[in-house]
Amino acid sequence: MGELSELFAPNRIAVVGATEREGAIGRAIMDNLIDEFDGEVVPVNPKYDELFGLQCYGDVGETDADLAVIVVPPKVVLPAMKSAGEAGIQNVVVITAGFGETGSEGAAREQELRDIAEEYDLNVVGPNSLGIMNTDVGMNATFGPDMALDGNMSFMSQSGAFITAVIDWANDEDIGFKDIVSLGNKAVLDEADFIETWNDDPDTEVIIGYLEGISAGREFIDSARDVTKDTPIVLVKSGKTDAGAQAASSHTGTIAGSDAAYEAGLEQAGVIRADSVQHLFDTARVLGDQPLPENKDVAVITNAGGPGVMTTDAIGESELQMADFTDETLEAFSESLPAEGNIYNPVDIVGDADNARFKEALDVALADDNVGMALVLTCPTAVLDYNQLAADTVELQEEYDKPIAACFMGGERVDAASDVMKDAGIPNYFDPSRAVDGLEALSKYADIRQREYDAPTEFDVDRERAREILETVKDRDETRLGVEAMELLDAYGIETPAGDIVDDPADALEVAEDIDGNVVMKIVSPDILHKSDIGGVKVGVENEDVYDAYEDLITRAKNYQPDANILGVQVQEMVNLDDGVETIVGMNRDPQFGPLMMFGLGGIFVEILEDTTFRVAPVSETEAEDMTKEIDAAPMLRGARGNDPVDIGGITETIQRLSQLVTDFPAILELDINPLVALPDGVKAVDVRLTVDPDEL
Ligand code: ADP
Ligand code: MG
Repeated sequence: MGELSELFAPNRIAVVGATEREGAIGRAIMDNLIDEFDGEVVPVNPKYDELFGLQCYGDVGETDADLAVIVVPPKVVLPAMKSAGEAGIQNVVVITAGFGETGSEGAAREQELRDIAEEYDLNVVGPNSLGIMNTDVGMNATFGPDMALDGNMSFMSQSGAFITAVIDWANDEDIGFKDIVSLGNKAVLDEADFIETWNDDPDTEVIIGYLEGISAGREFIDSARDVTKDTPIVLVKSGKTDAGAQAASSHTGTIAGSDAAYEAGLEQAGVIRADSVQHLFDTARVLGDQPLPENKDVAVITNAGGPGVMTTDAIGESELQMADFTDETLEAFSESLPAEGNIYNPVDIVGDADNARFKEALDVALADDNVGMALVLTCPTAVLDYNQLAADTVELQEEYDKPIAACFMGGERVDAASDVMKDAGIPNYFDPSRAVDGLEALSKYADIRQREYDAPTEFDVDRERAREILETVKDRDETRLGVEAMELLDAYGIETPAGDIVDDPADALEVAEDIDGNVVMKIVSPDILHKSDIGGVKVGVENEDVYDAYEDLITRAKNYQPDANILGVQVQEMVNLDDGVETIVGMNRDPQFGPLMMFGLGGIFVEILEDTTFRVAPVSETEAEDMTKEIDAAPMLRGARGNDPVDIGGITETIQRLSQLVTDFPAILELDINPLVALPDGVKAVDVRLTVDPDEL
């Protein structure tokens, strides 16, 4: 494929399907291009010799263009692409719809399109795309109504309609773009291609996007990681409720929907996820315009007590914190501020503050090394000139090069001041929490730039043994495995309690006698997913009760499901739950991201608690460690209420070993270890359940 940057900066654009007919898409694109494009526009339509006063060509192959925009009916798209390919036109935007989005005939056509792209090495946007824009060369190769303003963000969207709405709004808000691409069906070029191109583009400071899905999740993570070290990426994704739609057959499945995968994948890629359109643009603008903070400490300078409290709350709820001033700063404040003010953060310079007092306070705060960023918060008063304050804020930002967010509260009174700050890249919001969100995004991105991505650890494991165990599904004509597959965990070095599976009571007693203390006995049957629900788990069985317990477990299983395939009874060493925490480590395969690891609080109430966190496998040590810190119950692991802390390193290692297992065997569709009991001196996987696709083995 040729350089994608050329796609956005062509010299000569052929519009295949150009027409003067009002209302036609071929007309709209011609109008848009003729309006502003710096280069040449060439209409292609065999029916005409001339269109818009320009020479019209019968075939794209004759045009000598370097970009072809195709708007002809679906059936003639492919011949046009071939013709472009033969003529060495490497960049093609297919506007035409009626491909993969329309059923099997369309899907077949889309496959052909892909084949042609490959044969001629074409960069293809679409099909089913609104088109592309580049404000730098005035190229509006879309059929949308408006051209975007120029700016430093590049924008990709899976919805063309959303692009037109955004441009209309952004023009009104004075927000500009460098490149815009409507991804369409992403038959050839997808989000990963564009982020890489824009990372190399000196005019793109921020990459933003609206996506409905990611084409190749793991590859996206790996390439986005490199990009986000230099260029921030902010994405919104729709379809949050996909989670519910994902069919699930085990605990892990029900909890890990594809939105969890997306969330995890973006986090791992260093992409900032926006939860609304407003949030997307707020975030993108601060990232494009503001410097990055050196720390997470915010100074709030205000003439208004109440809003100061609101802001303090918003900071408390964010990843940021209120800065602690140095003694010099405090001294300077006590000298310059009236006695009824507050020299501590939030600095209250009092309602009668004039511009001089405001400027000095901001100056003192920004000079403090403990202050990473500042929030200028103000309500209108008779002695304060907003325009002057705006100018002072801009001046001090330039002097100190620290991020500043403004919260000049008010309506019309604020407009002029707001414009002054906007020109200098300082965002102004009415709502303090939006100002805090902006600063938080900067801090998040500063962290992302600092990240080191460690490669996943390769543990020494017994892969052959694992394969043998997985292959038992083939003999049994069964896709599920339960505790009978415990050895699979042993093969990958995951600690399990002593024990065995037996099929008569005498053997059960023998195993129990070999184990110190009382034992746990469980029914073993691939047909019984939740053993304790049917009384299929007996904890604390003494040796003299082993016979009875054995018979009872079998009877219960038969009562529950007379034709259940009962493999026997597991006799297992008992772990001391009083000292431990029941956790869950699991995996579910996501259609876009592949194996998705889950960690959370475990036990039989896992679905109710839903205290879980996710990462796309293979996970590194740092990622596994982060998972153990992210759940709400993390303090329990560190030792709550006088309990000893559990072996968090053991959990981290188990997550990584399991990640290696599911990466090695794509045949494992889902798996969960529930519980993985975390004890002060180690971890024990006491239960396992998995689903295997025998055809993948
Ligand atoms: P299931 O999830 O099918 O009901 P488990 O094997 O997970 O079956 O057992 C259910 C619960 O019984 C566990 O969550 C745990 O509280 C307890 N339990 C199971 N095995 C042991 C064990 N070896 N030691 C202590 N408690 C256990
Ligand atoms: Mg269980």
